[in-house]
Amino acid sequence: SESGPTTIVVLGASGDLAFKKTYPALFGLFANSFLPQTVKIVGYARSAIALPDFRARVSSKIKTTDQAALDKFLQLCTYVSGKYDDAPSFQNLNAFLEDVEGTKDPKGKTRVFYMALPPSVFIPASTGLKHWCYLGEGGKNRLVVEKPFGKDLASSQELGTALAANWKEEEIYRIDHYLGKEMVKSLMVLRFANVLFGAIWNRNHINNVQITFKEKFGTDGRGGYFDEFGIIRDIMQNHLLQVLTILAMDRPVTLSAEDVRNEKVKVLRAIKPLTLDETILGQYTASADKKEPGYLDDPTVPHGSTTPTYAAAVFKIHNERWEGVPFILKCGKALEESKVEIRVQFNDVAGNLYPSTVRNELVIRLQPKEAVYMKLMNKEPGLSTDLHVTELDLSYEKRYKDAKIPDAYESLILDCLKGDHSNFVRDDELELAWKIFTPLLHKIEGEKIQPELYQYGSRGPAAAQEFIERHGFQRDSSYKWVPHTP
Ligand code: NAP
Ligand code: NAP
Repeated sequence: SESGPTTIVVLGASGDLAFKKTYPALFGLFANSFLPQTVKIVGYARSAIALPDFRARVSSKIKTTDQAALDKFLQLCTYVSGKYDDAPSFQNLNAFLEDVEGTKDPKGKTRVFYMALPPSVFIPASTGLKHWCYLGEGGKNRLVVEKPFGKDLASSQELGTALAANWKEEEIYRIDHYLGKEMVKSLMVLRFANVLFGAIWNRNHINNVQITFKEKFGTDGRGGYFDEFGIIRDIMQNHLLQVLTILAMDRPVTLSAEDVRNEKVKVLRAIKPLTLDETILGQYTASADKKEPGYLDDPTVPHGSTTPTYAAAVFKIHNERWEGVPFILKCGKALEESKVEIRVQFNDVAGNLYPSTVRNELVIRLQPKEAVYMKLMNKEPGLSTDLHVTELDLSYEKRYKDAKIPDAYESLILDCLKGDHSNFVRDDELELAWKIFTPLLHKIEGEKIQPELYQYGSRGPAAAQEFIERHGFQRDSSYKWVPHTP
């Protein structure tokens, strides 16, 4: 709906994220007519790449049967090479952009600068863009930033201060791609558009909540990057905590980005910094059959590393709605399965009439195979008087047969083009998230806390099981799921 030309500038266009995520997402939007008519996409990186080679690389990562759309899309894509810390390079980029846009006048133009760059160049690149490529009066500028946003509170604040020197908060779009996932986007609808969930969504009815991320593979020889961060920074401090805030927040006054983010911030302010005794740490060893290597067998991982590849932690939200309800966040690599889900376990029935009753559970599966199901008690059909655990089930593949679920990046880039910040991380949200995790991270790293070892392909460290039960989760193994025949 923008009037003038819109240009998306992908910085770091020669890199992994750009080819794997950014360009395929842009193509997905283009093919579904969600990009503005006037859009142009300009890649920028240091590598000298000839345009045909660049286009060939872009198209090699795009899966489509619509060759005509792909050809049209590639025509929109150009590439300029230049440095990230050098004025003439950015002047050259600006001249290129003006050429692509067909006018020097900033009026009505939009430029989206997508920084698919390593954090070491965030600051020089965003500074250079501001000085040389920023649209003046009448133009709109947007800066998209990817994690990691620092490694702890101090480094995140340093990065934030450097960004804020050049860019206004309303121009910055910090991506947490979990906020673009279909099931995360539908959480607010489930909670706030259904009277039944609204009524029971509190400490009077909910016993405990689990938010789980499991991956069935390890670092696959690319553990060097991971080792600097560990699973807590890679998954828990950002993705899972974001899910927690949406799950726990109060109803926002409106759906405006600031109203929504204000409510999320209130949740974070009601959580105290995490301590080691509220945490379980694990690191995987080789699989039982020795076919899969352990974390320390990865040649890119430093010898003797104590970086956790599994973490479970319990969060308490000290407010009227949630006091006393444990939110258990758990995430790990090299486990027995891959899945991401939310499991809300309800209280025991008061004055229960039936001895074999188990607790209701609402499960929201983010991936794979999006689903929402409520586990509940029913009478065993027939003359039996026994009880049976069954489900009310919403399986996306069955209920929404022809729906195409967009990639999270498609959804987020579209929001950014619309200027909608709801699904991006605000500065104060980020700061509060780091406040919750920084003391723990410093303790783990400062004291080289030894993680509990678990086998590749197992359910994780043994202590985690006891930890989850101690925080109130009751597992019922009588439930048998009857899979769909699609
Ligand atoms: P990458 O491939 O390592 O880097 C992107 C581009 O930046 C490279 O092609 C390179 O381009 C340039 N570059 C690399 N190292 C540089 C250095 N030391 N100094 C200056 N330029 C350098 O990174 P990526 O995997 O695409 O990730 C980009 C950003 O997104 C990172 O912040 C990453 O943490 C984040 N991220 C990545 C993923 C993913 O799936 N890959 C997922 C989430 C977030 P030239 O040499 O041609 O300039
Ligand atoms: P489940 O996979 O049986 O897990 C239930 C809970 O018990 C989870 O917290 C799980 O831990 C834990 N658990 C599982 N195995 C354990 C073990 N050996 N030791 C200790 N704890 C264990 O999930 P469910 O909700 O009862 O559903 C059963 C199956 O039916 C699942 O495969 C589910 O995907 C399927 N189902 C599918 C649909 C659908 O597609 N629409 C609907 C209903 C059910 P983790 O948190 O580590 O997993």
